[in-house]
Amino acid sequence: MSTPNSVDSATRERLLQSAREAALKAYAPYSKFRVGAAVLGARDIHTGVNVENASYGLTLCAERSALSAAVVSADRPIRAVAIACIDAPPDSSPGSFMPCGACRQWLAELAPDALLLIAGTPRDYTVSELLPLPFTLE
Ligand SMILES: [Zn+2]
Repeated sequence: MSTPNSVDSATRERLLQSAREAALKAYAPYSKFRVGAAVLGARDIHTGVNVENASYGLTLCAERSALSAAVVSADRPIRAVAIACIDAPPDSSPGSFMPCGACRQWLAELAPDALLLIAGTPRDYTVSELLPLPFTLE
């Protein structure tokens, strides 16, 4: 297992700000819970938002949206992922800000060494902390 990436404080703030700004463009007419994500690849920052659907199960999370953008740009490896849930009440429990199970599986495959910067949580996380035994295909 390789060592997770780290980011300097300026990069950290730029990623979190990118995630917050992206969240303003979320399509969340049903939940009214806007989320933005910013992925730091080898070259650039790629953002994504949650994109809901009237058929709720088809909703796409911000994390997977941003990871897709990085893949489209062939900008890997992914070094960090920032996530901002701008509609979560400030006194929400940390779990309210964490990636869902589907996104954790995507992170394990596409960004296994990424540092996770999650606004509203007390510290940074690694992907392996959030999903220690991901599904894999040999
Ligand atoms: Zn998710």
